[in-house]
Amino acid sequence: MDKLTVLGTGYAMATRCYNTCFILENAAGALLVDAGGGSGILRQMESAGKDWRVIRHMIITHAHCDHLLGAVWVLRKIGTMMQSGAYEGDFSVWCHSSVREALCAMAGATLQASVTRLIGGRIRFTDIGDGAAHNLLGCDAVFFDIRSTKLLQFGFTLTLPSGKKLACLGDEPFQPVCLPYIIGADWLLCEAFCLYAQRERFKPYEKNHSTVRDACELAKRLRIPHLVLWHTEDKNYDERQALYSREGREYYSGDLRVPYDLDVISLV
Ligand SMILES: [Zn+2]
Repeated sequence: MDKLTVLGTGYAMATRCYNTCFILENAAGALLVDAGGGSGILRQMESAGKDWRVIRHMIITHAHCDHLLGAVWVLRKIGTMMQSGAYEGDFSVWCHSSVREALCAMAGATLQASVTRLIGGRIRFTDIGDGAAHNLLGCDAVFFDIRSTKLLQFGFTLTLPSGKKLACLGDEPFQPVCLPYIIGADWLLCEAFCLYAQRERFKPYEKNHSTVRDACELAKRLRIPHLVLWHTEDKNYDERQALYSREGREYYSGDLRVPYDLDVISLV
């Protein structure tokens, strides 16, 4: 993977941006990670100039609506393209069995049989568990249970062809028990719901989320050179990059990214 395209950067209830989801890609194709909360995924893909034919895989971290509901639209889009001959080969979905069951139930209730018939055929699900290792687009991927206190959720690491390691922590605070997975990571993709300075206003800890300061202190402690922050509140959307970067720099001297929707990050 050499390129990360950010499709959304917001938390579940964000209205000024799409819910946090993104694409990782290399010459072999692209991997979509989560799909946001609805048909907005179609718009974000179009706005990003992405061709659905290159999306070969989808990881769904957990079954909350801001990550899963867009996946119904992804199945509809790719399934319809398969039927019309516009999508070649198989499409692989990686998630826990509980997420698969929820997604397949929704797909069965809301999509045409001509699309849902492809599930188990050209739309291929693989159940993931803690420590599951697979190869996606030529990169070694390892999934790990982030030990969510709310709902079973998986993060993952990917070893890029360059040897660099990318770690996605999902949308909850890092649990030390997951350290063996992310040790040595070069890129850390981490939620930061709001500024530490605005914790009284946004109440991140009550919602089981991190602040910019928390994420930056974690990256500093683990000596991770690149840090991407997202899954944020959206009240500060226009100034978010400046505000979050300013607070982050007090606690972390590495490469801090606070992307907007549709930003592209080079991982090379
Ligand atoms: Zn979320």
